[in-house]
Amino acid sequence: MSSFAPLIFSGVQPTGNLTLGNYLGAIKKFVALQETHDCIYCVVDLHALTINPSPKELVNGTRSIAAAFLAAGIDPVKHIVFNQSRVHQHAELAWVFNCVARMGWLNRMTQFKEKAGKDRENASVGLFAYPALMAADILVYRATHVPVGDDQKQHLELTRDVAQKFNYDYSDHIGELGLGVPMEIGEETVNGYFPMTEPVIEGPATRIMSLRDGTKKMSKSDPSELSRINLTDTADDIAKKIRKAKTDPEPLPGDSGGFEGRPEAENLVNIYAALSETTKEEVLREFGGKQFSVFKPALADLAVEKLSPIADEMRRLLDDKGHIDSVLANGAERASVLAEKTMTDVKKILGLSW
Ligand code: ATP
Ligand code: MG
Repeated sequence: MSSFAPLIFSGVQPTGNLTLGNYLGAIKKFVALQETHDCIYCVVDLHALTINPSPKELVNGTRSIAAAFLAAGIDPVKHIVFNQSRVHQHAELAWVFNCVARMGWLNRMTQFKEKAGKDRENASVGLFAYPALMAADILVYRATHVPVGDDQKQHLELTRDVAQKFNYDYSDHIGELGLGVPMEIGEETVNGYFPMTEPVIEGPATRIMSLRDGTKKMSKSDPSELSRINLTDTADDIAKKIRKAKTDPEPLPGDSGGFEGRPEAENLVNIYAALSETTKEEVLREFGGKQFSVFKPALADLAVEKLSPIADEMRRLLDDKGHIDSVLANGAERASVLAEKTMTDVKKILGLSW
């Protein structure tokens, strides 16, 4: 092998109802990338254990995210769709990466700081080690590109750090086994087994903010329902949440320079741009100088128009749980073959098998 074949991997946690942020920041991109790449899309149920969902919540959440993938247009025949826990190699490689990653690296992760809050002593070890499992999710397929929202950028950097340290530490043995690709690390060339995965963070929707606080990311696990639009919200819910979205008394600015100190206004314009596949400038050409009383109903109409076909299809799919379960089982079978190949190599590289 002389280089890594392009491969897309990404995952979504079954930790609640999917939001507009998940859709615009991640799932919409998953759909677009399947035209040009081989893709693996995963419902990362092991990650969801970090917030201790009830078993029922976990089952329903996993099916619902799988349904959203399919409803949004992901093709589970051409590509691979499955839930993480069915492919045990993710957890196996995560242990290896727990031993590669350093405490100092994980201590810097802002997601852990935000989610653990003030009571760090009481946070689970899983929440702390989350990024090592995420690195394993990606690298067990030796994926080269990962479409994610901006909030996951730091975890992708950690994934690269893990890959680089593994490649560097085991370079000689990787070379002896003939499993490596020549890679530059500073002045040195090493035999790399894992690729330096690139994040794919593009477009106007890389960070959709909470509707209640323009400085906080929209999240499916946020306790406030009014902070987010769910993919499955009714037209009335969407209109109500947008009407109640925090704004300021000024009309919309004429260009994006005018968003200084107005994160809530910028967020709503961003959402409009992402849903209509244009730019903020384009939106402001139409709505600059107008009041929110004009812009908000237009945004609500657009959101309903774009989201309701997906919500309808999700509901239809969730009526046939057997179908969703068979998609996940089939995807897991195909993913397992790829993941097992990597684990067999990794065990040889480490000296766990010979
Ligand atoms: P949780 O609060 O449980 O972490 P989440 O909404 O952050 O939920 P995840 O499952 O952690 O959802 O992330 C799934 C994908 O959605 C990731 O690629 C993540 O970067 C992206 N994403 C999450 N929130 C946003 C957002 N507000 N804007 C853009 N992308 C987002
Ligand atoms: Mg998240």
